[in-house]
Amino acid sequence: MTNFLPESASFAKFIGTLKGSSVLVLGHRRPDGDCIGSQVAMTRMLRTQGIKAVAVNQDPVPRTLRKFLGDTPFSEPEGIGTDNYKIVTVDCADHARVGEELKIRFPEVFLNVDHHVSNTQFAEHNFVLPDASATGEILAKFFFDSELGIDQITAEALYLGICTDTGQFCYSGTNAAVFEVCRRLCLAGCNPSMVAHELYEREKPGRVQLLQKFLASFKMEFNDRVCIGHVRESFYRETGTKPEDAENFVDYARSLEGVEIGVLVEDRCGKIKGSFRAKDKKYRVDLLAKKFEGGGHACAAGFNVTIPLEEFYPDLVEEIGKHLEVVQKEGF
Ligand code: AMP
Ligand code: MN
Ligand code: MN
Repeated sequence: MTNFLPESASFAKFIGTLKGSSVLVLGHRRPDGDCIGSQVAMTRMLRTQGIKAVAVNQDPVPRTLRKFLGDTPFSEPEGIGTDNYKIVTVDCADHARVGEELKIRFPEVFLNVDHHVSNTQFAEHNFVLPDASATGEILAKFFFDSELGIDQITAEALYLGICTDTGQFCYSGTNAAVFEVCRRLCLAGCNPSMVAHELYEREKPGRVQLLQKFLASFKMEFNDRVCIGHVRESFYRETGTKPEDAENFVDYARSLEGVEIGVLVEDRCGKIKGSFRAKDKKYRVDLLAKKFEGGGHACAAGFNVTIPLEEFYPDLVEEIGKHLEVVQKEGF
């Protein structure tokens, strides 16, 4: 038996205590591949243990990720009954990330499985492993260690999480263990080229037009070390797209030679969703995002603020400038 993680035995013990309960597996707002993949995998694994489990999200499953649900029970908040549910969260850095409505409705979280360095350990039992590339990697290791069932849909869902959160096996969390886990997921039925096809070969023309507008918005700051691009509300209307279509655009801002931090600001009715992506962990963009009440990882973080884009831009540039000075002087 492989032993990927010392925490696996205690994870399996807590799963055992859920027998006889009804469980809701919650993900975060604007769910990404790791969130959906981890919800699918966790829900299916619980059901193999005879536990009644349903995945629930405040926001809808993005179009490109729907294929990965298979026959997993996935519900909107309105569709959940009135059972005395036990709550499991995956890929959520803090309780509020499940969405305000779900947080109020389910104030107590039993199990929190996540890989965000900024995780607030908000549950009764917390499995937060910031060195993991994805929540999917942690779950895969737990499942393999404890010989919990992995069918083809579960294997593909876990691979989806790892593939998307490593930026297709490019980011710094990509290591030998990640490939070992993925090898095992392939043996369990995952087809990487099918996953890649679903994720990257089904672009809508509107999304490509949205990307053109985003690329045209690039502004270089701090001697071209920072690239900031924006997406306005009007861009969505003009291209017939939705906010979920801007997923991963920020990677283009980071991809330029010499750029150390890429930034995406999305303007939605005076509310801003921001994303930071750094090339090196030393930039600790989770701490930069924290200045705007956000969080995330050292190289990938996000935030939400309620302020018009024009007013926000100077504040954003100023905070990035201060942050770069701290990185230069002190490092982290
Ligand atoms: P994003 O830029 O939205 O793709 O997010 C990058 C990373 O930061 C993800 O791992 C998110 O879970 C995390 N993140 C994004 N927005 C927030 C937020 N408002 N608070 C805490 N973490 C966030
Ligand atoms: Mn996520
Ligand atoms: Mn993740």
